[in-house]
Order: sequence, then C-alpha cells, then structure tokens
Amino acid sequence: MEEFVINNVGVKVGLEIHQQLATNKKLFCNCTPIESDEYSIKFQRKLRVSKSELGEFDPAALFESTKSKTIMYYANHESSCLVEQDEEPPHELDADARKIALIISSALKSNIFSEIYPMRKTVIDGSNTTGFQRTMLISQGGFYNAGKTKIGIQSICLEEDAAKILGEEGSIRKFGLERLGVPLVEIATDPFEVELTEIKKIALSLGRILRSTKKVKRGLGSIRQDVNVSIKDGNGVVIEVKGVQQLDQLEKVVEYEAKRQHGLLQISKKIQEKNWEFTDEDKKDITELFSKCKSKIIQNAIKKNQRIIAISFKKMAGMFGFLPYEDIRLGKEVAELVRFFGIGGVFHSDELPNYGIEESDLEGLRKFIKIKEDDAFLILASPEEKIHTIVNQIILRIEHIRDHGIPIDTRLATQTGETKFLRPRPGSARMYPETDIPPIIITKEELSEAEKNIPKSWDDSIKEIETKYKINPQLAEQIFDSRYIGLFENIIKEINTSPTFVASILCSSITNFERSGLDSNLLKNEEISKLFQLLEKGEISKESIEIILENIMSGKSKTVKEAIENTSIESISEESLEKIIEEIVEKNESIIKNQKERAIGPLMGIVMKELRGKASGEMINSLLLKNIKKKLENI
Ligand SMILES: [Zn+2]
Repeated sequence: MEEFVINNVGVKVGLEIHQQLATNKKLFCNCTPIESDEYSIKFQRKLRVSKSELGEFDPAALFESTKSKTIMYYANHESSCLVEQDEEPPHELDADARKIALIISSALKSNIFSEIYPMRKTVIDGSNTTGFQRTMLISQGGFYNAGKTKIGIQSICLEEDAAKILGEEGSIRKFGLERLGVPLVEIATDPFEVELTEIKKIALSLGRILRSTKKVKRGLGSIRQDVNVSIKDGNGVVIEVKGVQQLDQLEKVVEYEAKRQHGLLQISKKIQEKNWEFTDEDKKDITELFSKCKSKIIQNAIKKNQRIIAISFKKMAGMFGFLPYEDIRLGKEVAELVRFFGIGGVFHSDELPNYGIEESDLEGLRKFIKIKEDDAFLILASPEEKIHTIVNQIILRIEHIRDHGIPIDTRLATQTGETKFLRPRPGSARMYPETDIPPIIITKEELSEAEKNIPKSWDDSIKEIETKYKINPQLAEQIFDSRYIGLFENIIKEINTSPTFVASILCSSITNFERSGLDSNLLKNEEISKLFQLLEKGEISKESIEIILENIMSGKSKTVKEAIENTSIESISEESLEKIIEEIVEKNESIIKNQKERAIGPLMGIVMKELRGKASGEMINSLLLKNIKKKLENI
C-alpha cells in the first residue's frame, strides 16, 4: 500500500452551489415557503419508470425502479397547493425570483440569455411529485475573485427545490411538500486546480457574494454544495459528490474522492492482468449448503426466506481485498453498491473466514462451486426477486472498473469526509422541454435594472455594518455571515437596545448552545424578537435571555412566554430584591468580617445562584455592595 499524495494526481475540482432565494412565494405558484411539521394532507404514489419525451430510458431511472418504492407525500394548505400535488399546471414564473436570479448572474458577470426555456429534469427518487424538476438556464460564463484566484462560472440556473425527505421505512419513502417549488439558483463553477486548503475559501467567497445581495435564504438547508472531482488520468470522468454539509468538509471529501479514483485506476490495471470473464455458471444458490452456517447475517437472511448466493471470480484471488491506498478496495465498492439495494452484507473471499463464517463452511463452498486457489468469491443474501438485478449490477460494475477504470456515479459525502455510492449518473435523456410554460423573454430594461442592483462587495458590506451599528469587525463578520442578519437589522430598527449585545446573543450565545447539542431550529425568529422587546420593557433581565434561549433550544418550551413560566423567571421588584440581599448579607456576616469589601466576590456567587435571571447582574452588584458597606459600618 502506498501513501496517497494528492499533488501527484492532478485533481480538478468544480463547485455546484444550490442557494434558496428569499422570496415570499414559490417559483411557479403562490404558496409561501414555511417550514412546518404539521401535515393535514397525505397522499401516495408508486414510483415507476417513465419513458422521457425524447424516447430513451434513463439509466438512473431504470436503476431506481429496481428498488420498487411507494412514496408518501405529506403537505399542508399554508405551504402547498394543487401545483405541488401535480393536480394543476404551474402558474407564471415568480417575478421576485426572476429579478434575484438576474442580479446574481450580473454580479458574477455571467452572460444572460435573452430567451429562457423552462426545462424538465427527470427526478426519480420521488422528491418531486411530477417525476421531474423544473429548471431554466439563465446565464453562462462569468467569473468571481476568491482572493487572488479567479474562478470561472460555467452556468447559472433558476430551479425548483425538491420536497424534503422525512424518512424511509422499508419500501415506503416519505416526503414533505413545504420545500417543493421553493426557488433556488444553481451556480456551477469551471473546474479549477488549486491547493486543497484553498477550496474552502473559494466556496466561501461565492457564498458571500450571494449573501451580499441580501436576497437569499439563510440557515440550515438553505445552501447546499455539491463538488465535482476528477483526476488527470481518469479518462475525463468527473464524479459528482452531493450533500457536502459544511465547508470544512470540502477538503476531506475532495482528497478522499481523488484517492478513490486513483486507487480504482490501479485496481483496474490489476484486474486486466487477471483475464477474468464472468459466465452464468459462476453464480450459485448456496442456501442449503449454508443452512448450518453460524453467521448471524446468514441465519437472519434464511429466516426471512432470503436466498444465499455465491459468485465465483476465476483467477481473481486477492482482488477484493487489494488496497492501493488506505480504505480503498474493490470489496468496499461492491459493498456500497449492494447496500444501495437494501442488502445488508456481502462477504468476499479475502476477508473470510470471519463474521461467523468458518473454515469448514468455506471448504464445503469451494467444493460446491468448484473454485481453485487463485479464484475469488462473493457471498451475499438477497430476496429471490432481487437476485438477478443485484448480481447483474455487481458484475457490470466490476467489468466497468476493469475496462474503463472509474465508474460514472453520483456519490454522497459522508459525515467522516468520505464519499459513498448514491446512484448511477443520469443519462442525457434526463432533460426535456417544459411544455406548460412558454419561453421567458428577458428585456433590456430588466438587464439594466439587474446591473444597477449588483450588491456591494462582501468587504464593503462588513464595513457598512461596522459603522452603522458601531460593532467590532469580528462581530460584524459573524452577524453578516449568520442566518440572523435580517433579524438583527429588524431588532435594532424596532427596539432600543445595544447592537453589540444583540449581535453577541445571536452569534455567540446561540452558537454555543448549538455546539453543546441544543437545536436552534426550535427557536423561531418571532420569539427571539419578543425576547428583546421584553428586555426593553424591563420585564426580563439581560441575564435571563440565555436561560430562556437554553430552555427553548432544549425543547422544554416552545415560546418565550412558556419558557418564562417553566424557568420561573420574572423580574422581581427592587424592594424584594433588596430584601433578599439583606437576608443573604445577614446570613454571611462572617465572610464579610473576614474579607471586608472583598466579600462581594463570594456573596455575588451566592446571590446570583438564587436570583439568576430575575434581576440584572449590575443591579445585584450595586445593591450587594451597598449592603456590605452598611454591614461593615455596623460590625
Ligand atoms: Zn403551491
């Protein structure tokens, strides 16, 4: 096994950013995009392969259909109508979304088309009720600068967002319709070759240009980035990796994917040397033979009436376990593919005996399927009806690796920064014209309007926040990059309070609670505003804000009102405050005797414990000091 050195493989990276636009309507209907988990409407569809209007079958669609799913859709009347349910044709293109898309294209110096043709893009995972997503190519070309690096833009599209996946149970997949049809722009960059450490900066700069328009959504799920990775010797194969959640993950994902691709090329060469060919005789049902096998996976499968299948691979001994680089092997590629069909395990000869499969099982197997020393084999369990497809897919994949190197997949980024098989790449039949919507003509007036509305640069936006709100540069950056910038500006406009205080609650307090595992999605913007209103009226203290936030973010209360009741926070009058402090001073006379005025330290701790959130720290401090002094005079 070699050490992987990314600089040796000529890796090229392209970014694909999907950014939701901040409109009050969806792209082709009047529904308001509101996140909600209460659903009053429920209906179901069966996934089927549809021949696209160009008359070809889409390989990804065919592949998905082999998994036979029932799709359940959940919706409510506030955030969806008959358009989302595919019971009514789309309405006119939303004017705001159209404007924002043109501004973004102008800001990226991309050439806007004078006529825009809505298209249908086949979607086969059930995330669209129609089986397709509407998309429009708005502009091509353009660039932006990320520090000193100039990044080319390939294309900018305006699209409908997909439905939100709610979960999967057996053969049923569930989606919520509130997000379906929300406008988003998809921006694809040209492939670029940079140091790994630069990639995050390049993605961040693009995100900042978008946020500078102040017309894009913020927060969890409002921006998603896919990354395309290819290597110099990869015969032009570009692998699309979806679902990179955080920019910090980008570097790891690119490195892993480049390593995988380069590893596959080495695996490919090795298989070519083996002269392996598959024949139908290489596949055998070994359910009877393995009926006494002690492996739990095998026994569970037999209990579920599944069949145990062995596939032999002539002269391929050592191939499944061969490790060109750490974590890269043919066995893993096969396991990912099989898992996609809902099959839990596949064992290969290079890892056996293990997992409860013993040497005696293997001896019987070798005799039964007639394999020699230099042959390899796979063992897997599958429902009868899936066997043909699965075996077929495994063989096709290994043949593809042997003949062409890297299989053309769409992959998914994992939490640990690896990539895993998601589905085969859709073919060219995936796009066809949307006949329900006429072409959209972009006028010269619209273009010059968009030019006029190109936002200030990110740097200028930060400076503006610094001067306008008199907050330090670091906090200005944090608040501008956060999802709370709009809320922050509203609070400052409506409530007489310190911008620095509001910004630090929004950026650091909430973030700290998030880091400790609490959920900021439970916190509605209206409730945050209410907090600062109550503070202004003197009904709660500054100190109680964090207590209330913590209570809501941990799911104990839904609203500020509820949280105040649940935490028994209410401001107490100065008189009762003074009374409590007098009592504490009385009880702790000895501390005051010993430490004189320095007793404020330990006593402050005692008082705060009792009064946390009920009065401001400043007030407690001054009352306490006053009472300590009074006590000292009388000792
Ligand atoms: Zn609607």
